[in-house]
Amino acid sequence: PRNTGDLLEVENLTCRFAGVTAVDDLSFRVKAGEIKAVIGPNGAGKSTLFNMIAGVTRPTDGAIKFDGARIDRLPTHERARRGIARTFQNLQIFREMSVLENVMVGRHLRGRATTLSALLHVPSVGAEERAMETTAMALLERFGLAAKAHALAGSLAFGQMKVLELARALASEPRLLLLDEPAAGLPHAEADKMAETIRDLNRDGMTVLLVEHNMRMVMSLSHDILVLNNGRRIAEGTAEDVRRHPEVLSAYLGE
Ligand code: ADP
Ligand code: MG
Repeated sequence: PRNTGDLLEVENLTCRFAGVTAVDDLSFRVKAGEIKAVIGPNGAGKSTLFNMIAGVTRPTDGAIKFDGARIDRLPTHERARRGIARTFQNLQIFREMSVLENVMVGRHLRGRATTLSALLHVPSVGAEERAMETTAMALLERFGLAAKAHALAGSLAFGQMKVLELARALASEPRLLLLDEPAAGLPHAEADKMAETIRDLNRDGMTVLLVEHNMRMVMSLSHDILVLNNGRRIAEGTAEDVRRHPEVLSAYLGE
């Protein structure tokens, strides 16, 4: 049995689009229980990396292992079932569905064939469905959205939508949470609250891979930081390590 403590292993991962190498021979690991941040300028390859881990984009080359097993050829839903959940740089909530239904969709990602009935608003009143609803409501309560459970998701304020997206990701009970710019577009106070939420989740044992431009958040939250530029790693280490790295200063901070 393996006992490396690495939940995610990215090995020599490459993704080429026509004319662009978005991710270029990238290797790194995420330890179980840590918050690891991926930073870098626009176009560095951060979202492409997430898309390859979640299974939306196929790598050109390289391997991704989750809990010791190759996942890079598995369909998205199978990766979700194994415990990988994500949020998106550009909010992807179902605006015409209720807040509660949005969270239920996340829950269904973990479950069996009932996803379709949730998407199609087919009422189902089985015990399993009831249990899912109870779990979803508990999540909404945890995030202060319980009063909005039956409102249309599209009627929420922007900050609430960001929180809802996080709640939906958590509904699948993931072991690895991929967060693509969770603080983007949030005012200062709400960004701080989001950081606090992520810290709490981590204290409860959640492993997090975080893409974020808010440096205060990255530096205060992350156990480990990977700096990308042009799809390649230019630095990796603690906040203190990368802050002092000359290539980071020139490539990323433009100094
Ligand atoms: P980041 O999230 O770090 O800003 P991205 O992963 O979105 O970077 O993009 C990395 C590079 O790959 C950019 O040059 C971008 O234009 C390119 N790219 C991303 N997605 C696609 C795509 N679907 N087709 C072609 N090029 C893409
Ligand atoms: Mg991006």
